[in-house]
Amino acid sequence: MDYPGNLFVVAAPSGAGKSSLVKALLELDSRVSPSISHTTRAPRGQEKHGREYFFASQSEFDAMVQANAFVEWAHVHGNRYGTSKKAIEERIAQGADVILEIDFQGALQVKQAFSNAVLVFILPPSWEELRSRLERRGEDSAETIELRLKNAAIEMAQVDKFDFVIINELFESALFDLKAVVHAQRLKYAAQRRARADTFKSLNIT
Ligand code: 5GP
Repeated sequence: MDYPGNLFVVAAPSGAGKSSLVKALLELDSRVSPSISHTTRAPRGQEKHGREYFFASQSEFDAMVQANAFVEWAHVHGNRYGTSKKAIEERIAQGADVILEIDFQGALQVKQAFSNAVLVFILPPSWEELRSRLERRGEDSAETIELRLKNAAIEMAQVDKFDFVIINELFESALFDLKAVVHAQRLKYAAQRRARADTFKSLNIT
């Protein structure tokens, strides 16, 4: 189905800078809004229910799976995460652009449900840089970092299934690339036809 809004799905291995890039895009572009996932993991730090995530118990999450409420869900680093189908569909049907920041398994499932979804993969510039970003972040133990790097190899092997690839070497340049992807979608014929109907009419383009 063709919706007036765009659905952007951004995936990346941990440490590639996905969250910072999506956050910066959201600050710059008020037409894009995030989708808030459900998760079984506990809130961290200042996280609020309904802002970063909808925090759900195992049984609440199970009930949503049973009710087919998720467009995708996946186990990521030992917890379950899912994207509500209804929330996305309603917003893109109204013409809003929605961005999902999810893992690669979820991204591929979203593409199956929404064939027009635009899949963007963020790569780090090198293994050395990925490792040093994870170390500098100071969030994870040495063991967890090794696990994240192992997972990164599995995740990056899926990059060929994505529509766009952004290499996050310099933050500003990667942000420019992400903005370009968003902008290009809005310049597509069908989108322009909808957004600039008056111009098409005045030019007698039928
Ligand atoms: P964190 O717990 O650090 O916020 O997120 C861990 C991972 O889960 C990240 O890679 C994030 O992109 C992924 N994630 C967050 N929400 C979803 C979701 O709804 N579905 C899937 N498949 N992954 C998600």
